Amino acid sequence: MAQEANQAGEGAAGGGWKHSVTWAFRSTRVVTAEGLRPATLLVKSGRIEEVAAWDAIPADAHLRDYGDFAILPGLVDTHVHINDPGRTLWEGFETATQAAAAGGVTTVVDMPLNSEPETINVAALEAKREAATNKAWVDWMAWGGVVGNGGVGGNENELAELIEAGVPGFKCFLIHSGIDGFAWVDEAQLRKALAVLMGSGLPLLAHAELAAPVDWATGEINAGVLCTYDGRVDWRRYWTYLASRPDKAEVEAVALLIRLAKEFPTPLHIVHLSSAEALPMLRKARKAGLKISVETCPQYLWFAAEDIPDGATECKCAPPIRDKANRDALWKALLDGTIDMVATDHSPCPPDMKQHGSGRFDEAWGGIASLGLGLPVVWTGVTRRVKDQSRGLELLAKWLATEPARLAGLTGRKGALAAGYDADLVIMDPDAEWTVAEADLRFRHKVSPYRGAQLHGRVLETYLRGECIYWGRGEGGVRGVIDPKAHGRELRRNP
Ligand SMILES: [Zn+2]
Repeated sequence: MAQEANQAGEGAAGGGWKHSVTWAFRSTRVVTAEGLRPATLLVKSGRIEEVAAWDAIPADAHLRDYGDFAILPGLVDTHVHINDPGRTLWEGFETATQAAAAGGVTTVVDMPLNSEPETINVAALEAKREAATNKAWVDWMAWGGVVGNGGVGGNENELAELIEAGVPGFKCFLIHSGIDGFAWVDEAQLRKALAVLMGSGLPLLAHAELAAPVDWATGEINAGVLCTYDGRVDWRRYWTYLASRPDKAEVEAVALLIRLAKEFPTPLHIVHLSSAEALPMLRKARKAGLKISVETCPQYLWFAAEDIPDGATECKCAPPIRDKANRDALWKALLDGTIDMVATDHSPCPPDMKQHGSGRFDEAWGGIASLGLGLPVVWTGVTRRVKDQSRGLELLAKWLATEPARLAGLTGRKGALAAGYDADLVIMDPDAEWTVAEADLRFRHKVSPYRGAQLHGRVLETYLRGECIYWGRGEGGVRGVIDPKAHGRELRRNP
């Protein structure tokens, strides 16, 4: 636990005087930008002034000594559906960003769909800014959307204005998104969008599944040709859902994106890669120097199709969770650098939309709620696969903070512990073991497949620009305390 040598009698979430003093955050395991080592972070006015030696505490500094607990950079989650404005029954800035804070996430980037209006023009972005006012507990940004319009023309004329208005990049779908106001794009529309983005440095993020293989497989299932049980179609079975979203849909979409990356030398990013079958071509593309980055999600690294019970629609997401061999291959790709980062794809909905009554995967809304659980879920996986704990902590910081910050254009400010960066810190007990309970979930609806999961690694405190926004050692059964004030700000991409 932190020992404050210069306790000045004010709570960590308090106000102004703290900015004029130097805070010294010390531990034997600080994950600095150069690697893990004993160090002291000297913090003033919300910034890291210096990464100093462990015993180099200035006489006037307020010491927070965290012993052997790990100090990591605040996490950056670049794939979050906050659904605000418009679908605040599903989620909202207040609940989502508090869940983030409790999980050590200090920056979230919101996806342009599921909110109403969808973030596909400047007016919608302004509505989002309005919705976030005084409701963001962590820093935030909003991706813009690139949409088609049922194949008759998209929003390519809005993109330049959205760039001007400050979005850090754009998201698009290559398959129906589930949201009517967010139409998917075809190859011709992708080309138009990439032509606008060329030279801007802003990435185009793509949901990489193509519709044709999914529509074909779904048709075959419903016709009783594919994936039947005793001659019947059973949509309560997870394997039926999995068969309806074949690897081929992802593989063909990734192949298309790689082709476009050759033509348009502008950053492309594949969100939530699930199929390991796409990895060989991604390895090749990256070796060839194409500007294509890849993310996967905790659910693909944690769950496996073999273990998902019938009717467990809280596990439905797209692309789907695949089998154990696929999960192992994703871990391998993460460890060898083919996959750059992990983002949650936190995508909640009201519980009744999960159709727990019927348990039918075809009727349930897709999306897994997991904001704030990325750190312990990925860390638990790392402890099983990486022997050297120090190396494991460095990888955690890279996948969950440094690389996502790079994608969002925040390098130099977020995602690392180095001089000049914001003092966004996570204090983590890497050895703590705990079981996820409802009280640990701070997002709006407590429907999550992680309930009951046994995890390693616990967030003890989260700091945003030097302010303690989460204190994870509450009393009386409360799992943790959130700062009563919302300190989050909207961030703009580096020029
Ligand atoms: Zn998503």
